[in-house]
Amino acid sequence: MSTDIRNITYALAPDRVWDGVSDETRDGLAVVVKDRHIDAVLPVAEVPADMETAILPDCTLLPGLMDAHVHYSSVMGPAFLAAGVTTIRDVGNDLAWILGERERHANDLSAGPSILCCGHLLDGPQVYWPQMGRAHGRSEEIVESVRRHAEAGVDQIKLYAGVEPQLLKAAVDAAHESGKFVVAHLQTTTAEDAVRLGLDEFEHLAGCGVAWRAASEMEDDLMIDLLLERDVIIDPTLVVWDRLGRILDRPFHHDARKSWVHPRHLDIWQRYLSRFGPPEQRWRYQGAMTHLKRFLRRAHQRGVTVALGTDTPFPHLVPGMSVHDELAMYTDAGIPAVDALRSATAVNAQVLGIDDRTGTIRPGLRADLVAVRGNPLERIEDIENVHCTVREGRRFEPSGLMEVHRSTFGREPDGAVTRDLQDYVDGKLLNRPAS
Ligand SMILES: [Zn+2]
Repeated sequence: MSTDIRNITYALAPDRVWDGVSDETRDGLAVVVKDRHIDAVLPVAEVPADMETAILPDCTLLPGLMDAHVHYSSVMGPAFLAAGVTTIRDVGNDLAWILGERERHANDLSAGPSILCCGHLLDGPQVYWPQMGRAHGRSEEIVESVRRHAEAGVDQIKLYAGVEPQLLKAAVDAAHESGKFVVAHLQTTTAEDAVRLGLDEFEHLAGCGVAWRAASEMEDDLMIDLLLERDVIIDPTLVVWDRLGRILDRPFHHDARKSWVHPRHLDIWQRYLSRFGPPEQRWRYQGAMTHLKRFLRRAHQRGVTVALGTDTPFPHLVPGMSVHDELAMYTDAGIPAVDALRSATAVNAQVLGIDDRTGTIRPGLRADLVAVRGNPLERIEDIENVHCTVREGRRFEPSGLMEVHRSTFGREPDGAVTRDLQDYVDGKLLNRPAS
């Protein structure tokens, strides 16, 4: 499946290198990997003759991709690596479990991507997702939860839909006191209020009313002015709204990439589509896509920081491969491919606070890389043609990963998201999930 290259130095010589920062790719370069890090980026001709070198014909080498919005379960790891995703941010899970997974993945490079996590979704008085979330009625309760999460060692704090402004303010202040960045799925609190109260990032464009309707450029700009003034990040996850809006569409049911999805999750997807809302709700999401894309394009044009995430494993979001779909959505929205790719690499690394460790190709950073056939800066779909993924120096090929992955399909998926989605499709959740 992979070569254990610890203590081995080797070079990767693709046709093109894109470093995660530049506007264009560069030809004729080799990237030298030593142990877990990038040792050098130099002309192929300068690679020592006796160094093991992997020639990657017709390939572009990029920084490993990142998914900034995942609810991880134990059966997703190899799929992420096969898609070139070397880092994920888990934004809602059981606290103790996800801390354990973060540790396991730090120690075992073949387990899947490197994980950053937020622990539980910190919700308002009623909890939408009982396994992933925790309810909080009063400010003191949510402050206590934030502190407990910070002490447990989460990377960031995630607030959820039922948090009203007073709770949100208390949570944000407590998180900032602990040095933690705060990301939220908004619903009860509007994006305008949340931004003014100090939130750092919001997901799905939820709570951002202007992005969901036929608004004028002036209306968009008022919201965007506020985001720029407060330096707030958006992570639109267009792909989750698109898939929920088109949950019955045939192409998704015949997506060959579903072979990477655990049978339990496929079963949940199948049953989710019959439970998920009346047709009007699906049409609402379909109709909203053009508005969401318009808002995203304008926000990007004006310089708002745009992260890139997916909400895997919600229906039709294949772990890792849904990052490719989200990249394509950004370009559909009118964002240049190179900027979409920046969102998934260098920008995500900044948002996750790890840009001093990974996210670009330069000496000293972790050797987190993906080689794809073709040139995704010219044709974004080429990002799907993964030749190999390098996580912290260790090289993986999709075919080998598939073998390992399928061998895990006999096990039930572990992770709070599976239990919550299962209860949702079984009709056991009292509250309809926020959407
Ligand atoms: Zn989510």
